[in-house]
Amino acid sequence: MNFSTITIAGSGVLGSQIAYQTAFKGFDVTVYDINDEALEKAKERIEKLKERYQEDLGASEQAVNNAYNRIAFQSDLAKAVSDADLVIEAIPEVVKIKTEFYNELGKVAPHRTVFATNSSTLLPSQFAEATGRPEKFLALHFANEIWINNTAEIMKHPGTDNDVFDEVSQFAKAIGMVALPLHKEQPGYILNSLLVPLLDAAELLLSKEVADVETIDKTWMIATGAPKGPFAILDVVGITTSYNIVNAKAEATGNEEFKKLANLLKTEYIDKGKLGTATGEGFYKY
Ligand code: NAD
Repeated sequence: MNFSTITIAGSGVLGSQIAYQTAFKGFDVTVYDINDEALEKAKERIEKLKERYQEDLGASEQAVNNAYNRIAFQSDLAKAVSDADLVIEAIPEVVKIKTEFYNELGKVAPHRTVFATNSSTLLPSQFAEATGRPEKFLALHFANEIWINNTAEIMKHPGTDNDVFDEVSQFAKAIGMVALPLHKEQPGYILNSLLVPLLDAAELLLSKEVADVETIDKTWMIATGAPKGPFAILDVVGITTSYNIVNAKAEATGNEEFKKLANLLKTEYIDKGKLGTATGEGFYKY
């Protein structure tokens, strides 16, 4: 793996985590965002991460400060990527914003630079052409709280070069991730391809009044040895996110069962402020 200089584009929730984790593992990192105000917010976010690394990982004060000092902040895209071996994009999940970003990035980045998108729901093939270098482009998808939930789903689009795929997999390992290769494009990657149908099925059992929350979770946990059941997972994901997904399916398909479920989530949970662990109550009380 020849990567040593990494640029993270977009320094929000995920971008700041990816930047800090990469620096913590010894790489030189440049954080790019649209203006100085956004970069100031990134600095605050990363300051908070220093505390989390000490609490959660037992990292020393020196280690967290050294990591911070390996990060440069830049609001000029050409300067931010002038020496980048790899650019990891974590900008908003909006097709137009990402397309414009890749059009510009493709023009200013060195020819050797590899681009990776952290997009959760959009496929790399949607942006491959805009990058101007489809063979050096792929998805590298992290989970929130990357220093603990250290999965990295690495996904090709049909034009990604195999060597680039291998190099990005090695990089993911080098920053402490468990590299999870996907050899074909798949909406939702591996995790959400498995999780979303499970969560949907659990919620439909509830809204069809087949069984209650505790019974459904208990069944799943005892039978499979899983530490959490689907409703405990939904409380962590957040009931608003779940509602948005279910409601979109109800609207797209007109399916009556999904409509009933969306209504249940809205009236019995969201309207009552039961949004999951974030508010202290969802399907369970915390
Ligand atoms: P966010 O809204 O917290 O951050 C987005 C950042 O991008 C902001 O700092 C914003 O100023 C910046 N930005 C906006 N336009 C830009 C542009 N043109 N160029 C550069 N920066 C720009 O978003 P997030 O939650 O960090 O999500 C970013 C990406 O990561 C999305 O594609 C999302 O699907 C993906 N993702 C998010 C999570 C999550 O749990 N939040 C998990 C995995 C993947």
